[in-house]
Amino acid sequence: MELMEKIVSLCRRRGFIFQSSEIYGGINGFWDYGPMGVELKNNIKQAWWHDMVRNPPPGPDGQEISMVGLDCSIIMNPKVWVASGHAKGFQDPMVACKAEGCRKLYRADKVWLCAFFDTEEVNQITAMQAEAVLGSDSWRNNEIEFFKMMARLQSPLPPKELIAVEADVREDAISKAQLSNSQRRRFQGDPKLFCYRLFDTSAINMPMNRCPNCQNDSLGEPRQFNLMFQTIIGAVQSDDNLAYLRPETAQGIFANFKNVLDSSRVKLPFGVAQIGKAFRNEINPRNFTFRSREFEQMEIEFFCKPDESMKWYEYWRDVRKNWYTKLGIKSERLRPREQGKEELAHYSVGTTDIEYLFPFSDEPQELEGVAHRADYDLKQHQQHSGKDMTYFEDQLWAQADKSIYGGDKKKEQEAKSKLPYRYLPHVIEPSAGADRFTLAVICEAYTEDKAPDAQGKEEERVVMKFHPRLAPVKAAILPLVNKEGMPEIAEKLYRELKADWNVQYDDGGAIGRRYRRQDEIGTPFCITVDGQTLQDQTVTIRDRDTLQQRRIKLDAVAGELRQALKAK
Ligand SMILES: [Zn+2]
Repeated sequence: MELMEKIVSLCRRRGFIFQSSEIYGGINGFWDYGPMGVELKNNIKQAWWHDMVRNPPPGPDGQEISMVGLDCSIIMNPKVWVASGHAKGFQDPMVACKAEGCRKLYRADKVWLCAFFDTEEVNQITAMQAEAVLGSDSWRNNEIEFFKMMARLQSPLPPKELIAVEADVREDAISKAQLSNSQRRRFQGDPKLFCYRLFDTSAINMPMNRCPNCQNDSLGEPRQFNLMFQTIIGAVQSDDNLAYLRPETAQGIFANFKNVLDSSRVKLPFGVAQIGKAFRNEINPRNFTFRSREFEQMEIEFFCKPDESMKWYEYWRDVRKNWYTKLGIKSERLRPREQGKEELAHYSVGTTDIEYLFPFSDEPQELEGVAHRADYDLKQHQQHSGKDMTYFEDQLWAQADKSIYGGDKKKEQEAKSKLPYRYLPHVIEPSAGADRFTLAVICEAYTEDKAPDAQGKEEERVVMKFHPRLAPVKAAILPLVNKEGMPEIAEKLYRELKADWNVQYDDGGAIGRRYRRQDEIGTPFCITVDGQTLQDQTVTIRDRDTLQQRRIKLDAVAGELRQALKAK
């Protein structure tokens, strides 16, 4: 069985993840967390909140980091999505790539086809041929005319290369065509390069559905498209009442920027964090919970001065990568990847994807994006809402030498209204997927090894090696036999521990079987009450990973657990 299949099967068998609405055949792109899964995911969210919001690592200059939280509604005023750019797909037709593993979505008018012709062959087109279709020789200096002519001549010259690119303008398309070295050599000197909007060229007899990303001829027809889920507010079914389930949690933070400033006495730089559900109507949900239509995000928008933004970008990039390793993700499977210039959103100064090598792919996949978004979002909301989103450095202004304005109130006002006193903050956005990280933690934890059974014979064991902080069950309390006063002691210990942690009491079956059950759900410690406990008030504590057993005092168990589960 493939590794990923084994993991999916364990998730179902042991109550980590179920298909949503399974009794009705499921529903594509939606998943449920079972009794173990909900504990694991909650532990992940709590670890994030604790380590990023309540107690973030010190800043680049050793300073305290100021962080606050929010919990915004899932449905917001639809104008939010116009400002953020998410509503775009409703206005512009989109095309989607149908190729497996690509499935990219483009604005139809942003896809260009570049056709490369051999200059010498082009020059052999006679003026007579040209005049026959165009009535002039104008095609030599005009690419559109050239293409028209070729179309009417039914392409006497097949293009040597076809490349599709995405671009705002044709010039950009040429530079973005990213010719390979061999293509460059072939078109050296005077390459005839023609770029056309893919869906403006129906008259031209060429493959017009090439995907700029994967270069397969696999683009579908242009359609009105949107990844946002729609709903209707109120009882009247009308377009005026349309609303959307948020496609990201970030916009709730931007929309509340002023509220947070005015209500919580934070000063720049500071971050606002939110954990919450978001929804995207993915064309092709896949890879278990990795790409689903309903998912949970853990997002921070960190607001800072424009000239300090690179420092904070680097800080968050490193803090976020280290967080994953701290929680047990081996660094060789984790890859921070700086996005290339051509991948960046137009407003972004830099983005690092923190990627993880899942068993379902040979390529690392995105767990989190740390993006430098400059002042794009606040500027958009300022423009669309008409509300001032600037930040004013009141302390800096209070200390400023105002004598330089010579008492001229107008000059003073003008100075006050711009840098360094008033400005739109820049934003660094570490945006993590709670479900993606949960899946990475599950994949990382899944281990097959050997452990001795009751007779000391080695047998195969499946063990989930979760970091103790994330493990759904922290400890299992096991009476060796159900008599001789052992259950009484074990139950007392169980009641004591469950006041603080999720622990299990298990008295069913042979002790080896019980260990195996706990290994499969990743319980880091098994505490066994045996005959010796009755004599000297000690128990054995078994380590899940090393299989080592130690005897410790009954009253030291809680202390040991506390130590092992501490956030370090
Ligand atoms: Zn494609």
